[in-house]
Amino acid sequence: MPRESAAERKRRASRILAGLIDLYPEAECELSFVDPFQLLVATILSAQTTDVAVNKITPALFARYPTPDALAAADPSDVEPLIASIGLFRNKAKSIVGAARRIVGDFGGKVPDDRAGLESLPGCGRKTANVVLSTAFGKAAMAVDTHVQRLAGRLGLSKAEGARKIEDDLLDLFPEERWAFISHALIWHGRRVCSARSPRCGECGLATDCPAAFSATKVRNPSARRRSYGASPRKSR
Ligand code: SF4
Repeated sequence: MPRESAAERKRRASRILAGLIDLYPEAECELSFVDPFQLLVATILSAQTTDVAVNKITPALFARYPTPDALAAADPSDVEPLIASIGLFRNKAKSIVGAARRIVGDFGGKVPDDRAGLESLPGCGRKTANVVLSTAFGKAAMAVDTHVQRLAGRLGLSKAEGARKIEDDLLDLFPEERWAFISHALIWHGRRVCSARSPRCGECGLATDCPAAFSATKVRNPSARRRSYGASPRKSR
């Protein structure tokens, strides 16, 4: 099968977007939160664990520490018992207390609504910043987690290996006003249909535009994908 041109890939991306809108019109962040502070904390806690596991512990955590001021005044050892059911909880306790202290000390007690401010907080990398920017502040940003990385590879939207390069490829393929939706919808699709080990291609609404259909387990690592639709290299954003 011939290599896909950039224009053809863009048209296919448009069809995938339409398919995702059809499949998941209400796709959104599945972490529970009521304000940017809670979303920031929940997203930091969600690293290498599930949203379901985080949603089980955050009600008690936010009841005890409802504001940045309250969490900033805590000692990480006080927080640990409340989050001990998730992995890396000691480091995460340090991160969320550290983030709260910086928010109080350097940002007037409010979660910063810009990338530089967010990425200066302990425990907040680019993915977490993108979640907060897009979901809490409605800004154009796309969070690339493990599901988005896997789906981008299988769907032939990016052949890059790093999250940052994959993010750049996806930002180029989709309209800015859909960046947040694409992230949520790909995560939903990864959780519901296109899992890492057992993608259900026979039930997948995107199969007609997916170069990995029925051979997806060979494409868990995007760099292993070799079946047409190659994405051309591009500069970093
Ligand atoms: S066709 Fe298969 S590999 Fe492609 S997106 Fe659907 S479930 Fe995933």
